[in-house]
Amino acid sequence: MKKTAISFTKKTTHSRKNSYLSRLWLVLLLVAGGWVTACGPQSEKEAAKTENNIPMNEEELMRKAIALSIENVANGGGPFGAVIAKDGRIVATGVNRVTANHDPTAHAEVSAIRAACEKLDTFDLSGCEIYTSCEPCPMCLGAIYWARLDKMYFANNKDDAKQIDFDDSFIYDELALPLSERKLPAEILLRDEALKAFQLWREKTDKIEY
Ligand SMILES: [Zn+2]
Repeated sequence: MKKTAISFTKKTTHSRKNSYLSRLWLVLLLVAGGWVTACGPQSEKEAAKTENNIPMNEEELMRKAIALSIENVANGGGPFGAVIAKDGRIVATGVNRVTANHDPTAHAEVSAIRAACEKLDTFDLSGCEIYTSCEPCPMCLGAIYWARLDKMYFANNKDDAKQIDFDDSFIYDELALPLSERKLPAEILLRDEALKAFQLWREKTDKIEY
């Protein structure tokens, strides 16, 4: 310590100035590096929290969903990711695998709900929240209601999705129309015969209601 102090005092004003400048640069680099890390799609700190299952805040969880959506583009899927969390801890995640799995229902939210239910061994996700990189389509919104999730957060909205030809708004518009005016032809057939199943359900005494 003493040796360092002596050598420092022996430095000329010029070298001292250089030393201050290099320290200033170092501080600036560290601050900039920290800022870039903190503002990236998903910072290393957030990734570490995921790994260690440390509670994350809303923005950190949404950044995870966004990071999944970005990764999924490179992995041959659609640009959508979702995270289901309980008390800030990630329970399950999902990405869009429609084309990869030949499954039109493999949207990020549905995939995350399936994974969360399997992990928690339940069909009821009360107490959990979903973070999805895009406003859910009607199918996923329905699944979110069915799963009884406490709250939904989304980043991109359905109009953003429409801009890249994912036209969820078309289905929302269809739902608002009477059956006869929708693009999908629909016809009621054999209602009386189908009601038999409902009658059996009503009479069943050991059913698991949901
Ligand atoms: Zn969907």
